[in-house]
Amino acid sequence: MLRAIYPGSFDPVTYGHMDIIKRASAITDELIVGVLNNNAKMPLFSVEERVKMLKEVASSLTNVEIVPFDGLLVDFARQMNAAFIVRGLRAITDFEYELQMSQTNHKLEPKVETIFLTTNIEYSYLSSTTVKEIAAFGGDISQFVPEAVIRKLTEKMNLKGECD
Ligand code: ADP
Repeated sequence: MLRAIYPGSFDPVTYGHMDIIKRASAITDELIVGVLNNNAKMPLFSVEERVKMLKEVASSLTNVEIVPFDGLLVDFARQMNAAFIVRGLRAITDFEYELQMSQTNHKLEPKVETIFLTTNIEYSYLSSTTVKEIAAFGGDISQFVPEAVIRKLTEKMNLKGECD
């Protein structure tokens, strides 16, 4: 039984993340998408909202589970009994950080390996940050995120607008 974890902020989930989730779930028996509950990153969406959106958009993938976590990633991997951590690599700019993280995690827990899936060229430019910026200015984000996320982002932006 090959179980892997795909951890991230997913604030919010994009088609780039979805592509990695689909491809990683096709090569594992079970894929756990770990949603980081880290308020220091000041996410736009709460961890509950991020988990809900992911559950909605990944509902057709029967071997994918969405689980929130906090604390050390290697502790979460141990707790979930996962042999692999999956990360996506978009560009050379991701590489330095990802290399450092995977080497550190390997030092902390040599039994857990990190594997990288390179981005589909179609999504190599795509990040949650860009999507939020476009949405904040009322731009069209339909090429970047699923319908369920558009609805949530629009709601959130309207709420923010009312508070500002
Ligand atoms: P984190 O805060 O952990 O970087 P993200 O939600 O930004 O969380 O990203 C989670 C993972 O998904 C990372 O491995 C990141 O490189 C990958 N990722 C993000 N966007 C894309 C994309 N467009 N294509 C492929 N992988 C991506």
